Amino acid sequence: MAMQEQAIAWRQAGEEVGLVPTMGALHAGHDSLVTRARRENQRVIVSIFVNPAQFGPNEDFARYPRPFEADRARLEALGVDAIFHPPVDQIYPPAFKTRVEAGPLGEVLEGKSRPGHFNGVLTVVLKLFLLTQPKRAYFGQKDFQQLVLVRQMVRDFALPIRIVAVPTVREPDGLAISSRNAYLAPAEREAAPAIYRALDVAAKGFGGGLADPVELEDTVRHLLEGTPGVAIDYVAVVDEITLRRPARTGPGNVLAVAVKLGTIRLIDNVVLGAERL
Ligand code: AMP
Repeated sequence: MAMQEQAIAWRQAGEEVGLVPTMGALHAGHDSLVTRARRENQRVIVSIFVNPAQFGPNEDFARYPRPFEADRARLEALGVDAIFHPPVDQIYPPAFKTRVEAGPLGEVLEGKSRPGHFNGVLTVVLKLFLLTQPKRAYFGQKDFQQLVLVRQMVRDFALPIRIVAVPTVREPDGLAISSRNAYLAPAEREAAPAIYRALDVAAKGFGGGLADPVELEDTVRHLLEGTPGVAIDYVAVVDEITLRRPARTGPGNVLAVAVKLGTIRLIDNVVLGAERL
């Protein structure tokens, strides 16, 4: 049965669907989303789609890893109900024309370095939602801005879907797990845990009463500037709805960073204080 028909049949039978959208090359971070979805829904759909619309012309679309058989085995072991792995022309047939425009939240932070990225993300996420009819959709906190933009789209279009944020899964040394970590040269991999260490120092500073967002950003910046091979793209304390820097840091604000290690761009963030959402 086609994905949308199957999803509608489940919905009509009163079975709630949890959707976990991924680009494949699955790791422990994805497992955590799937496990959470498994716990909260009668049916779990994992989509695997390397979305050309969210890659810039000089990004790694062509060489993004696609180990489909390993992904399938991993998902079968986790007990999902469906793997939705459409070819590109099923999502974007030749006659495809309409796109979601992310608006101003898509132009800051990641969007500044990756113009058009979030238009591509939201376009595919909306289509995946319509094809899989989820009651809940699971996104990693690691891609914090993506989460913010998906939530904004859900509000803007009154989509009847609950967006669930799942905490970032890390390597034992603190590095956020990402399929791009495999591209790091040994020296870069050794330097990479400095990213989370710096975020953690600032988070503890916030816990200890440091509330000036610029001081928190400077803490991270100084620590990262002392790490060989790390080039900072941005360090920002932002509100988790507006993505603006607050006058004074408060609970639920997010401290986000993007760095380059050689040619590899890595992002990470920590939620400061208790999460509000
Ligand atoms: P991707 O396949 O990289 O597009 O990621 C699919 C989903 O997994 C996104 O919602 C990501 O935020 C999430 N994700 C990726 N890495 C992690 C991680 N280390 N911990 C938790 N979620 C993650």
